[in-house]
Amino acid sequence: MAERILLVEDEEKLARMVEMELRYEGYQVEKAPDGRSGLDLVLGGGFDLVLLDIMLPQLSGMEVLRRLRRESQVPVIMLTARDSVVDKVAGLDSGADDYITKPFAIEELLARIRAALRSKGGSVSQELPLSAGPLVLDVERHQVTVRGRNVELTKKEFDLLRCLLENKGRVLSREVLLDAVWGFDFVGETNSVDVYIRFLRSKLDDAFGLKLIHTVRGVGYVIKEE
Ligand code: CA
Repeated sequence: MAERILLVEDEEKLARMVEMELRYEGYQVEKAPDGRSGLDLVLGGGFDLVLLDIMLPQLSGMEVLRRLRRESQVPVIMLTARDSVVDKVAGLDSGADDYITKPFAIEELLARIRAALRSKGGSVSQELPLSAGPLVLDVERHQVTVRGRNVELTKKEFDLLRCLLENKGRVLSREVLLDAVWGFDFVGETNSVDVYIRFLRSKLDDAFGLKLIHTVRGVGYVIKEE
């Protein structure tokens, strides 16, 4: 799937040029001409990367970044017109992943985009929350809710649930789950999976009166909507 990039830039000509180049490279691009609409768009989710101008109408790029970082760790590359050390330091302090000074060569921008997407952990676009019925798992926020209520999970429980949700409706064997969650070098018993499935059932199905996690005897486990 093509990676989605949000470009927040008020200079129309520059925005159009960058958009064209990014599309040519196979990215999906959306544009916002000011800080406020940019912030709204990115908080709506589904973007793999944000290109954020600093000098913007309504909300400055720095303010957009500060508000964004309370909610999201989506990679952000700041576009700065001024080759000012202060801007760069402030941007990186506020949680920008990188910055580029205008005017820039498009090849340099593309290289920085690729680097930021790589360090984020590959090209898999997985910002959309995963769900089964009233259960929602938000990968970006590392948060699980049932009917809007927060459920505290350990890292292994979270990873196991994520794996089940990414394969909703498909039966996964203990071996597959073990590889996906514990890794190939795991030394131990496949019944670790059973133990963690029990933890998940108690925190999700039992706690909320649901029946989402099913055992398929002799095969493994599957998560299904009721
Ligand atoms: Ca500007």
